[in-house]
Amino acid sequence: MKNTIKLLGIITFVTVIGFSFTACEDPPCPHTNSDSILGSGVVPTCTEEGWYERQCWACGEIFQVTREPFGHQGLSEPKAATCSEPGNSAKYGTCTRTGNQGCGGTVIAGTVIAALGHQNINWTSYNATNGKISACERANCAGGFAIVGDTGPKGGKIAYVNREGFDVTNSSGGGTDKAYYLEAAPGDAVGTFTWASSSKVTADISGTKGEIGEGLRNTQVILAADSDAPAALAANGYGNPSDSWFLPSENELKEMHKARIILGITTGSYWSSTQVDDDPSYAFNQPFSSSTTFDSVDYKTRTYRVRTVRAF
Ligand SMILES: [Zn+2]
Ligand SMILES: [Zn+2]
Ligand SMILES: [Zn+2]
Repeated sequence: MKNTIKLLGIITFVTVIGFSFTACEDPPCPHTNSDSILGSGVVPTCTEEGWYERQCWACGEIFQVTREPFGHQGLSEPKAATCSEPGNSAKYGTCTRTGNQGCGGTVIAGTVIAALGHQNINWTSYNATNGKISACERANCAGGFAIVGDTGPKGGKIAYVNREGFDVTNSSGGGTDKAYYLEAAPGDAVGTFTWASSSKVTADISGTKGEIGEGLRNTQVILAADSDAPAALAANGYGNPSDSWFLPSENELKEMHKARIILGITTGSYWSSTQVDDDPSYAFNQPFSSSTTFDSVDYKTRTYRVRTVRAF
């Protein structure tokens, strides 16, 4: 009991002393007096914080002060999408800040807004020399290139755009035309088709090629060697003969596959006009049910779909 009283006495004493110190101390320094910066600390970079030390002039206390990252430099301002060019809802471009504070020319994607696509292109004003259209019905359209998904001159959909232009070879005329677009027909040829007629299933149709621009010539080569070739005949016979529809080459068909969603072709397999030269029993095809673009081959006796295209 005596010890307890003694302990309480000590606690009371310490508490009273403590209170008296607090009560008697000066109010805390508001650190509002001018301060001095101590050295440069760490300078920020494009993306990393920095800091510096400052000292309160009045009380001498030293603080570390955070400096915000500089952010990237030289980026382009956000821009609206147009018919043919994507926009961006954030700043984008390549950072130009160099040296220790730079980021090594980081490419900033921003937030890309897809091109809007044209509305009711007036194809009669199409410039076949540079691949451009003059304008469309969308307000403020400046024309330029059509984009994948736009409606083509023959009512199909633009499936491929090459702004540099590509050569279209033509076996019957022997000439070479320059084209900028592949237009896929609005629908499939009716039915499914073998690649070769029944008497030609192992015949070597030599000279078909896989490149973009070769589909028209391939189709002519196939029909010259096998005039009843079902897939090529279906493609060639589609629509108006003067519109020069053809069975797409291996790579032309791959471009159509890459645009499968916008073209609305997401089921079935389709023939190309390219034979497998190592084994003439086979030709290239493409399954459109899969999102993966394949190097797919199959026997010419298999029945697949045909989506005809034209180049212009
Ligand atoms: Zn202070
Ligand atoms: Zn940067
Ligand atoms: Zn437009």
